[in-house]
Amino acid sequence: MPEPTATPPLKTLPLVFEEPRKARRPPRHLADMSSQARCEAVVAAGLPAYRAKQVSHHYFSRLVDDPAEMTDLPADLREPLATALLPKLLTPIHTLEADGGTTRKTLWKLHDGALVESVLMRYPGRVTMCVSSQAGCGMACPFCATGQGGLQRNMSTGEIVEQVLAGARSLARGEVPGGPGRISNVVFMGMGEPMANYNAVIASVRRMTDPAPDGLGMSARGITVSTVGLVPRMLQMAEEQIPVTLALSLHAPDDELRNELVPINTRWSVREAVAAAWNYARVTKRRVSIEYALIKDINDQAWRADLLGELLTSYGDWGWVHANLIPLNPTPGSKWTASRVEDEREFVRRLEAKGVPTTVRDTRGREIDGACGQLAATSL
Ligand code: SF4
Repeated sequence: MPEPTATPPLKTLPLVFEEPRKARRPPRHLADMSSQARCEAVVAAGLPAYRAKQVSHHYFSRLVDDPAEMTDLPADLREPLATALLPKLLTPIHTLEADGGTTRKTLWKLHDGALVESVLMRYPGRVTMCVSSQAGCGMACPFCATGQGGLQRNMSTGEIVEQVLAGARSLARGEVPGGPGRISNVVFMGMGEPMANYNAVIASVRRMTDPAPDGLGMSARGITVSTVGLVPRMLQMAEEQIPVTLALSLHAPDDELRNELVPINTRWSVREAVAAAWNYARVTKRRVSIEYALIKDINDQAWRADLLGELLTSYGDWGWVHANLIPLNPTPGSKWTASRVEDEREFVRRLEAKGVPTTVRDTRGREIDGACGQLAATSL
């Protein structure tokens, strides 16, 4: 094997696994609670339990969050019920549009002033919401805009779900070109490392997949949870009995380079992360996606394509894996940039020659900084 190409020195940021102590929890929202807990909350407010079901129906099925539109509820109960179950979690700061309005990035302010972003992308036949799971991120990947700001706090289940509902309401109201529609896919590829906020992320997936009116009734197959490789959580998710797609952001097939590009690799190596991904495919029968941002002269060498192909096929060729190559989105001030077209083509060719199904991701939203690794939540 050729020697790895020397890489430029990188700024070292500390890895953060836990949110800072000063984080204040957001108010409890209907989407934070199971169906049972909603009934209990309503009873605690002195109202009959069936009112919880009615409010859930408005929120998840009718996509209504304004009490004035809940006309099957007695007028004098609408406000108290909304106060108990639907506190405002996200305040829009602004929405930027691209692709003729079919890509919409919204900057949200949370109750404590933290800023996060979500992106709605409408394609022919599907609508994908890219959601954030943390305000900031503690994983410190040096090529990522979010990683440069550090972690502020974990988001709550309700805050995660509400990003999807906000997109669903815009679609239902016909605010996105293409006519009224529904969210078909959710990807946890916005701000944050989803597995570092595991419980809230899994609960939010349950809210999205619970049948109406307890949840949105989405197919788990339309939901993708990404990770940089928090191996114990990957193993845990395989046992959850919710067949979401797992996406492992690998970005390098060798520990030497991955230690720099994805610092969590110093804790769980390439081999350990890929083995956990393979285990997920084995247990859930869901094909895993290996995400690989192609960075010019850093990780896009032909020999690294060969090494990646050998690594993935060493776990068998039973269709357990798919490689998704991402032309790097340049971030402000970064010296790194996307690979040359010829290097990208050669990388794809070599992976396919090894028998790894490979696609190159559409980088929607690039001009509004809405593509992966660009969500830095600035309000400027
Ligand atoms: S690439 Fe993902 S895990 Fe890494 S710093 Fe950015 S948001 Fe965090």
